[in-house]
Amino acid sequence: GVSAMLARTVQVHGASLAVIDGDRQQTWAAYADRVARGAEALRALGVGHGDRVAILALTSMEFFELLAAVPRAGGIMVPLNWRWTVNELLHAVADCEPAVLLFDERMAATGAALAQAHPDMKVVALTPGLSGLPFYGDMVDAHSAGEDAGRGGDDVYQLGYTGGTTGTSKAAMLSHRNVLSEAMCCWAEGILRSDCIYLVNGPMFHAAGTWPCLSIIGSGGTAVLMPQFEPGEALRLIAAHGVTESLLVPTAIQMMIEHPDFTRFDMSSLVSVLYGAAPITDALLDRAIAALPHARFTQCYGMTELSPVCTMLPHAYLEGEHRMKGRNRAAGRALAAVQIRIVDPQDKELPRGEVGEVVVRGETMMLGYWHRPEETAEALRGGWMHTGDAGFMDEQGLVYIVDRIKDVIISGGENVFSTEVENAVASHPAVRQVAVVGIPDAKWGEAVHAIIRLHDGHMATEEDIIAHARLAIAAYKVPRSVVFWEEEFPVSPANKVLKRELRRVYWEGRE
Ligand code: ATP
Ligand code: MG
Repeated sequence: GVSAMLARTVQVHGASLAVIDGDRQQTWAAYADRVARGAEALRALGVGHGDRVAILALTSMEFFELLAAVPRAGGIMVPLNWRWTVNELLHAVADCEPAVLLFDERMAATGAALAQAHPDMKVVALTPGLSGLPFYGDMVDAHSAGEDAGRGGDDVYQLGYTGGTTGTSKAAMLSHRNVLSEAMCCWAEGILRSDCIYLVNGPMFHAAGTWPCLSIIGSGGTAVLMPQFEPGEALRLIAAHGVTESLLVPTAIQMMIEHPDFTRFDMSSLVSVLYGAAPITDALLDRAIAALPHARFTQCYGMTELSPVCTMLPHAYLEGEHRMKGRNRAAGRALAAVQIRIVDPQDKELPRGEVGEVVVRGETMMLGYWHRPEETAEALRGGWMHTGDAGFMDEQGLVYIVDRIKDVIISGGENVFSTEVENAVASHPAVRQVAVVGIPDAKWGEAVHAIIRLHDGHMATEEDIIAHARLAIAAYKVPRSVVFWEEEFPVSPANKVLKRELRRVYWEGRE
């Protein structure tokens, strides 16, 4: 299990730096000591085998400690989304029924409301000075180390709430075996190893935040924490700490390279950029590669339910012969612990090159959704995780994700993959960001519609965009209409563009 993995890390890397959080830092030996005492503090609150420990907080050293302290006490980690409303959080707490809830200063009012609704749940402050609440740091100081509960294998390590991009997020039960298998696959691919200095920029309530931390706890690398993503601060931390590696979602990459201070910071330490969690356009990836010439780029494709990454595309492939023209870049090959198939709606395997649903099984596949037997049976049909993503596999076993099935536009009976149209539009020099959605159309059923944000100081008309797209893609895929947006696109808490929000105005009262 995770705490056994930490015990090995301490033996091998005890004196090296585990975590940097602002002006605080810890070696692995110091970290493991805090973890062992924190586990006793949790036990003193009544946490035993299988009890949920929920955390509602920005990223911090204490949060990083809890990743190992909770399983050491025998409990299950439940990071909660601090972007949720009180109502959404009330639902989540009623769903996962935590024995203990830890929250920070920023979440104090919400935490108090949750505590009031669940009087049996113990509440603890994750930052000092919250009136009337014990502070976790003081509780750690007050306890000494005890025994490791010894959880591992198929015991649940975490309830991971999905990104909530397509609907209400569901809690995936991830076992110790799941997260350890994932970590081993990463090391095999040469990432998140003992020599990495990793910038944790994704929120801890999303797989993009917890996943790298767990791999680092196992490898003995160094985690540089930031409370929450902010592009200028990310640049500063990379330069200040010589950060070598980070997973950046496409919107984060764009915010960083477009930041007015980008050129003021030395980015040469950043030799490994992992990108993924949402589709990236060729145009943005090309700009990122040019802006960060010292970095190798690795694409990661996956989902919460798969702990989370299931394919990786190493840098060597990016400019190689595997990059298909007119289609997306490959998302990569299956990691060693998983098997991937492309199937039709009847779950029959399709030949290479044909687009169908991507299904995955193996050591990193979740046990199921917490308290949702129907959704679990549906998602894990026949023992394969049905990803809800459309894609195909080529002769080399490279997997190409063409769209989310829910975002595929059916226009005049033809399937149009929104990401392919986005790629064709995004290569126009004036286009800063684009989202392509299907809107109702009397003749075609759905019509391809592009929503565009332009670069500052650039001009383009609807006709320009359509003419540009026509050069790259077949006529039936070309947007029939284009609108220009001034404001930011709506994004999920994990910074993914919410197409369901963009679509909604067009479909209101019709679906
Ligand atoms: P929800 O399941 O709650 O609707 P979500 O699917 O966004 O939200 P996550 O588990 O965070 O929740 O995200 C997984 C999804 O993100 C994948 O199914 C896929 O659609 C998308 N994705 C992840 N990585 C990539 C990638 N490299 N390229 C394209 N899409 C990706
Ligand atoms: Mg999903």
